[in-house]
Parts: sequence; C-alpha cells; structure tokens
Amino acid sequence: MEKLNRILLPADKEAILSIPVSWSGGQDSLRWHFEKMRVFTVKSGYCLALNDRIQGSVSNLSKSHNWWNLLWSLVLPPKVKIFIWRACLNVVPSLENLYHRKIAAAPSCTRCASHVESTSHALFGCKAARRVWTASHCSGFLALVRRLPVMDALQFLASHLSLDDFGLTCMVAWAIWEDRNALLNCGTTKEPEMVIAKATTLVDEFKGSKCALCPQVSPTAVNGP
Ligand SMILES: [Zn+2]
Repeated sequence: MEKLNRILLPADKEAILSIPVSWSGGQDSLRWHFEKMRVFTVKSGYCLALNDRIQGSVSNLSKSHNWWNLLWSLVLPPKVKIFIWRACLNVVPSLENLYHRKIAAAPSCTRCASHVESTSHALFGCKAARRVWTASHCSGFLALVRRLPVMDALQFLASHLSLDDFGLTCMVAWAIWEDRNALLNCGTTKEPEMVIAKATTLVDEFKGSKCALCPQVSPTAVNGP
C-alpha cells in the first residue's frame, strides 16, 4: 500500500485496489482491453490510433465551423469579414506571400524593414501595428498574441472579449491593413489614434445602416478561397 501511495495518483490507486484478487492464486498477466481475446496486435493498436486521430479531426472541424460561424455573425461590412477570413487562411497579399509567388522582389516589411512581412507580422507583430494595438481596447492582450498566427491570435481575442469588442478588433485589424496599403501605394500613413478612430467610426456607421440588418453573405468554402 505504501508503494502504491508513493508511485500512483489517487485515482489510479483506487482503480487498482478495486480489482478483485484471484482466489485460485493465478499469476498476473498483461491483457489488451480493445480486443475480445485480450491480446495486443499491431493491427489493433493501429486501428485504435487511427480512430483517435479521426475523432480529433472531427473535433477540430467542429471548432473550426464554430469559429467561421462566429466570424460571419459579426455585424461588420462584408469586405471586412472577408478580409479577416482571408487573413486567417493566410491568403492576403502580404509581401511574404507575394515573394513566394515570385511577385515581390523581397519579403521584407516595408514599414519596419527588420522582419519578413508575414500576415501575422503585418497585422500584429510589426511595430507600426503594435502602436495601433497599444492605443486600442486590446492593449492588454498584445504581448500574448503578437507572435501568434492570425487565426490563433483572433481566436484568443474572441474568447476574451465581448462580441462587440471583438467586432471592433476585426475592424481595427482591417484598418491596420488599409493603412499598410496606403503606405505601400501612396506613401501616406495615419497616426495610431486615427486608425482606431476610423475603425470605430466604420463600425458605428455600419451598425446604424440598413446593411446591418441584411442577411450576411459568407463564402461557400470555409477551408480556402
Ligand atoms: Zn514590420
């Protein structure tokens, strides 16, 4: 008993102590729970592992569907939701993506010139984006999400913010991307407070418009454009 206390968790000890002891004095032996004959085979182990993997995939798919449903339910202009959807799938024209397609000459971020401009860098990691988030309602979460892939970062924020605040978060991400585009295309950029003010105004305007009551359109394929 002392040995059991020392090497086992309480729940495991309980389970072991509940096993009836053989009256005939038979020897202990290993049994495989998942086969009628209680004998382990590689085929049986393989099937069990495969089954676990399939169940895991179904679970992930279900979570994924919940995530997209949440995204499409936000009261935001369709163009913003589509941008967030594309950012989550990493199919926006970041310089890294354009470089891989041999469209851009280099993947370096134009705004900070010190990192590859991945989608997550453009929206969260770049110092220009961080200045905006630091001035926003999400400032307390920035350190936690700035190095995450976009989908992970947004899912984290969605689970820690109200629906309205998360909608504003998506709009701020879109406004950061718009500001990034303005710098690349026109050489202009806004102060962080102006980026947030623009996002807040657009959310309020959309909520006050008839469009907010229209059925929201979502892409038919949720796994890629
Ligand atoms: Zn940068």
